[in-house]
Amino acid sequence: MSNKATILPKLILAVEKSIASNAEELTELDQAIGDGDHVSNLQRGLQALTAQGDALSQLDWQAALQKLGMTVMSSIGGASGSLYGTLFLAMSKGLQDKELNPASFPEVFWKGVEAVKQRGKAEKGEKTMLDVLIPVAEALLQQANKPGVLEHIAQTAKTGAESTRDMIATKGRASYLGERSRGHIDAGAKSSQLMICAIIDKLADSLASPS
Ligand code: ADP
Ligand code: MG
Repeated sequence: MSNKATILPKLILAVEKSIASNAEELTELDQAIGDGDHVSNLQRGLQALTAQGDALSQLDWQAALQKLGMTVMSSIGGASGSLYGTLFLAMSKGLQDKELNPASFPEVFWKGVEAVKQRGKAEKGEKTMLDVLIPVAEALLQQANKPGVLEHIAQTAKTGAESTRDMIATKGRASYLGERSRGHIDAGAKSSQLMICAIIDKLADSLASPS
């Protein structure tokens, strides 16, 4: 990983494709226990990021994550905009005195997730994106440097999203439904899983054939 965010436009494109090809399922999830706008919120943000792709790739990771966080914050809207924005801004802050590389990434991602927890006043088990982000951050800290870490993280993200199905929502719009929120996967957990898996696939590709 160079310290410039050269790969970022490719990662954004991979995420955009994954959200587009799962748009119907994600919208149905947010319609079932939310207001159905999750995909359009995300797509607004991804379009804004795509428009900035070239500029982002010229920046070092600290500046790129800051720009990414601010763009996401101002373009996505909804609960998820401020939460995803917070994730990237806090990751940028965590890079103030270091480079982004495989050794620093787990700690930096952990700081981002901690900031999302604070911003959303939420913990694991409340049927939100944190049911994916927290286990993934924990697995990264525990498994970094071990063989097969990328596959392990992808599996952790999938298990995390699936785990929200039987939970009762206690945060966000879905919490208004109380017991009736049970039985549906949380849209934000599912989109987090899809984004993480898309990024992992792209990283695995570029490790296999660096361009
Ligand atoms: P909105 O809820 O404003 O319509 P979105 O539909 O874009 O926004 O995003 C909803 C997702 O945001 C939920 O599925 C959930 O994962 C996440 N979310 C909502 N509130 C919180 C919170 N307090 N903490 C963490 N995640 C949350
Ligand atoms: Mg919504």
